[in-house]
Amino acid sequence: MTDDEAIKDAEENASVHRFKPPVYIQRYELVSDLLEDPRWKNKILKVVDFGCAELQFFKFIKNLSEVTSILEVDYNKLLLEQYCTRAEPLVFNYLCSRSKKLNVSVLHGSVCDPDYRLIGCDAVVCIELIEHLDPGALDRLPHNIFGFIEPLLVIITTPNADFNVFFPQLKNGGFRHYDHRFEWTRAQFEDWASNVIARYPNYAVEYIGIGSGPEETKELGCCSQMALFVHKNYNKKCDIELDENENEQTSVDEICLDIKNVFESNIGSKVKWDNINWNDFKKPNKLYGVVAEYQYPFKVDNRTRDEKNTDDAISRIHMYTSYYCPFYNDETYCWEIPLNNLILFNEDLNIDLDLLGENLKLRGYNIVNNHLIYEDKKDDSDQELNDEQPELPNVLLNDASLLAEECWD
Ligand code: SAM
Repeated sequence: MTDDEAIKDAEENASVHRFKPPVYIQRYELVSDLLEDPRWKNKILKVVDFGCAELQFFKFIKNLSEVTSILEVDYNKLLLEQYCTRAEPLVFNYLCSRSKKLNVSVLHGSVCDPDYRLIGCDAVVCIELIEHLDPGALDRLPHNIFGFIEPLLVIITTPNADFNVFFPQLKNGGFRHYDHRFEWTRAQFEDWASNVIARYPNYAVEYIGIGSGPEETKELGCCSQMALFVHKNYNKKCDIELDENENEQTSVDEICLDIKNVFESNIGSKVKWDNINWNDFKKPNKLYGVVAEYQYPFKVDNRTRDEKNTDDAISRIHMYTSYYCPFYNDETYCWEIPLNNLILFNEDLNIDLDLLGENLKLRGYNIVNNHLIYEDKKDDSDQELNDEQPELPNVLLNDASLLAEECWD
């Protein structure tokens, strides 16, 4: 049972409160909103989603237009093999291609291991992962994320144990999921996060609740909690490429074990951790296994703003003139479309209609008094066949249906 199913069960038993939308969706939405936050506009290009499990969060990150590289990493290889195709481009992605490249790697590995592919990640996401880690792994995680990857953003979410009393079956203790090693109160989570920034003072942290309960649970906080770490002084690292055969590791587990042995001999005290020579881990290591790799289609749009607006207007002209719309004049056999209607729903809100008219003229269109005049191009014989009528649909479309057509488009 996933955490969310456990919460759903608890909700049903308690039949008191429904999280709307469900808490897991609230988490995904908040994390993707944060990745798109204007404070770091154009800086989040490469993202790693640790503990990605069934790649549920992937559909949120893949829509971030600035992101050009996504690593989906989990320790459970079978799960990745089962769900990796969720990262595959869809037919839609070929029809409406992105304007920037997007490379996706689904990787088998641990959040604690410094694989070379993690270098250059601008954001690290760990959604409901840390509570699944054993103490040794939990100790290593900050060193890999904050010491080795050193991204601009680190987003970590975990259940808020303060909120557990809200769930009847957890009133007397216990965890939300059988695989949880711990569930932290807000104070415990903040204590852990402040220790992290004490070791990595380049980071500042803020805490955000996810999934509010009913009014009377306000002092328990939210169902889930997030720590958002932001680098105060970020310098992007360059990706590195390793030759396929260079440094080839026969077994990921073997190498993970090597690294773990080094780590494990150091586990236990902050002082020992500080003694680790992190340069040893900065050399390129192939610790992760590749489960799948996908490249999304993209098309670079080199058109000027005017060219784009003119092209958009022309596609509207094609749309209006493909059926008998209210702009069709039965007497002149022409469509007479106000230029205003050619820029409805346009991304660019400051289009100069006179300039648009001039540009359309240059493309051979007839513009009179801020209207596009489009002649019905059927030849006479055709016209006779059609009883001197343009191609008429059965129903006369009204403005509302035009709008619906626009949205669908
Ligand atoms: N992040 C997922 C989401 O939001 O849908 C859910 C995460 S699931 C609750 C926890 C995942 O962490 C599991 O898939 C588990 O295999 C993975 N995991 C556990 N230990 C890990 C480790 N050391 N490194 C990477 N992933 C790990």
